[in-house]
Amino acid sequence: MEDPPEFYRIMSLRLSRALGEIGVNSWMVRKRRRTFLMLEAEGTISGNLQGFNSTKFFFGSQSEGTTTPGLNSDVDILNCEHDINIMTALSEWTAGMENYLMIKEEKCSPQHYLLQEIRQDSPEPAVNPSNMFSVVDINGRVLHANTEARFIMKLISEGTNLPYYSSGPSHSVNKMFDMVKAYRRRSLPPECLEWFERPRPGHWPPPGLFREVRECGCFLVPDGHFDSLDKDVEWRISPSLIERTLMFSMKTLQLKCYVVLKILKSHFINPCLNNIGKLTSFHCKTALFFAAEGMPPGINILSLFESSLHSDVASSRLKLVSFFFCHNELERAADVLNDVERRYDDSVQAVCGCGNMDPFKTEHHKPLCTTSVLDNDDVLLTNKTALCVRYLGHEASCAPPILRYEMVRGIGEDINHRNLNEQKWMKWAVVDALPYLYYLQYLTFRGLGQRVGRLQAIINLGNCILDNSSYSQIYHEATFGNLLGALL
Ligand SMILES: [Zn+2]
Repeated sequence: MEDPPEFYRIMSLRLSRALGEIGVNSWMVRKRRRTFLMLEAEGTISGNLQGFNSTKFFFGSQSEGTTTPGLNSDVDILNCEHDINIMTALSEWTAGMENYLMIKEEKCSPQHYLLQEIRQDSPEPAVNPSNMFSVVDINGRVLHANTEARFIMKLISEGTNLPYYSSGPSHSVNKMFDMVKAYRRRSLPPECLEWFERPRPGHWPPPGLFREVRECGCFLVPDGHFDSLDKDVEWRISPSLIERTLMFSMKTLQLKCYVVLKILKSHFINPCLNNIGKLTSFHCKTALFFAAEGMPPGINILSLFESSLHSDVASSRLKLVSFFFCHNELERAADVLNDVERRYDDSVQAVCGCGNMDPFKTEHHKPLCTTSVLDNDDVLLTNKTALCVRYLGHEASCAPPILRYEMVRGIGEDINHRNLNEQKWMKWAVVDALPYLYYLQYLTFRGLGQRVGRLQAIINLGNCILDNSSYSQIYHEATFGNLLGALL
């Protein structure tokens, strides 16, 4: 396949960065998931203490971390009731529980089932309705209607004077919270099993994830097909837990693609469509899953590389720049350099992990006494710290020529007198991030013919010596001297 034009790659990089800045980044995704999983546990425990035998789930983009402030995503709360036994055969009947048999008939809408009421004292179909939500059909079967949640929420709405909202299986008195009542089915129905048996060209989902997803089971939610004559007694299969498990396995890069799809859907595509034909987040998610299934494994290695960029402000990004530079992709290198320069403001502290920080030197231990370190705030640490840029021997092809010389520090007899650690160190090239940023700017702008940028890079590199504060954070002086000498 022909490579996309360079313009698209640069735009893609910028879009990815913009998404990261508005909350689609690994830190925010992690925080959101942790928060909502804690809310789930709190809601479940609180309900159990009040005597409800149920489990609360928070599904959807808020808990997945796949939303941005502009999308105005609501919170999807599913309350799964455990006092109900959902069966696919009478052999699964349990004494003393409310037993319902799943029935699939030709007239049932796709992914929809009827629930037939079975007696509590015997595995036989009930003959008489047991409550006001039981309906007897023309065949004499007692069916469990899906109208209870709607009935209760309307009562609450009338009693509290709050507006009533309904969308699909959700009935709520708060526009920002979708409330869904559900029953759990541990084994998967044929509709879901098809997904497991479909041939896939790629390497996703991996076997471990496949096994995990199989354990999720599915829900039955009170949602008849809008076009069905039996919509008040139909229950729809909902694989929400499977979806969430798959979404949790996605890399940040894939989540960014998904969010872009949703932004396009909400702001550009749906305004042109009528209500019934509108695209939903589920359509976008399905497209994402199909794309993930078709990806070669190498793309996931790319994702790992992307996630490693967030180690600190500069070091991993500068390695990416040198990779671009060594492959003559100067525009891409310049774009990342601009990004690093913008991130590297006066509050960023250089930190050397190679043992060159003097604990008795005020300037050296200052970075370790900042609020971010004391508060163990990982995001502040990531955004305010610049580690040394380190190349191992086998990374020589990604380093500019001047650093490759650093990897050959001895070729004579002296090698035999080094211990194992010294031998390893001698094959590395390590450079402070700030002077290296300027050095890479010099190389890149020179390659692009940008004279002003090139001169500014030389001045900035020189200032690393003239400015006491900058110079006090140079931990690899010899390498810095080599960079400076190469430019003069
Ligand atoms: Zn260092």
